[in-house]
Order: sequence, then C-alpha cells, then structure tokens
Amino acid sequence: MVNAMLLTPIGSPDLDVVIDLAYAGANNFTGQAIYLHQGCFLHAVAAEKLAHAASLAGQLGYRLKIFDAFRPAEAQWRLWLHTPDADFLAPPWRGSPHSRGVAVDLTLIDGAGNELDMGTPFDALTPLAHHDAPGLVPQVQRNRHLLLGLMSTAGWDFYFKEWWHYQLFEPRRYPLLSDRAAGTAMMAAGAGLD
Ligand SMILES: [Zn+2]
Repeated sequence: MVNAMLLTPIGSPDLDVVIDLAYAGANNFTGQAIYLHQGCFLHAVAAEKLAHAASLAGQLGYRLKIFDAFRPAEAQWRLWLHTPDADFLAPPWRGSPHSRGVAVDLTLIDGAGNELDMGTPFDALTPLAHHDAPGLVPQVQRNRHLLLGLMSTAGWDFYFKEWWHYQLFEPRRYPLLSDRAAGTAMMAAGAGLD
C-alpha cells in the first residue's frame, strides 16, 4: 500500500511526452500483451528526472517517446519465460530496475512526431543496439549521443547494450513493486488523488 503510492502517473497534463507502451499491447517481442494495466508510471524520483529530460529535449525542439516505464514484477516473469536471456532481461528473481519504477525505455521524436533514427528499433535483440556498435552511420551515433547527453544531464544512468534503456543510479535502493501497485496507482490517478 505504501509502496504503491510511490508510483507517479506519467503523461499529460503534467508532462508533454508521447506514450506508446509496447508491453501493454501485442506490439512487442513476445507478440502478446504483458501488462494487465494500460498506465505509464514511474517512481516519484524517476518521474522528476524524466520531466527534466523532457524539458532539455524540448529546448532543442524534440519530445520524448516512452516505450516502457514501470514494469510490474509479475510482468518481468512473463517476459523471462518467453526469452530467458540475461543480456536482454534482468532475471526476475533479481528484479529489473523497471520493476522498481526507476527505469525507462525511450527515444526522441522530432516536431512532426517522427522517431529519430537510432539504427535499430526499440527492443532489438542485436549487437547493433549497443551504444558503441561498430558500423553505425554518424547520424545514428549523433542521435544516440543526443539522447544519452540529455538523459545523463537529467541524472540518468545508461545501459551500454540498449540505446533505449535508462535507469536511476543504485536502482536497488528502490523496492520491487507488483501489478497491485500499478492498479492502486491507476485508481488513485482516476480518482484525482495525489
Ligand atoms: Zn529498459
């Protein structure tokens, strides 16, 4: 109950970002909906740092597009049972920073709403997704460095194997949260409560 209240809804009217949660629908590597909820949530500390990043992006004429944020601990098990690959997913018994509400998967979109070219789609299981992948064209490197630069400035840590993944430093300081936490946060948001 206490933990659930740590989750902050992400999006309008507080934050001008585009939200396209891959695991809320079937458009993800498993081909099926993984989440029981449709809401986008982050731990309050992470939500603040995301707002900072959105503001930095906005100064350059870009917006953030969010593919994933809080991922209930149960959902991490569903993903792991589909693809048990520790390079790609945090083993659920260890806990993903996403399940602590302190990780976000995202890209940048331009003024027309088009995603910047990052060289691979979000969630691509390929070495090309690594930040330092050889053979990336300069424009792709620039785009990745732009996202890295503004996320770093806003206080986020990066993961070198996934250009789209950012998380707070020392994520284990934050508790693992469940489906129930998302449900409670959704009800609180729906009721207009803080
Ligand atoms: Zn991620």
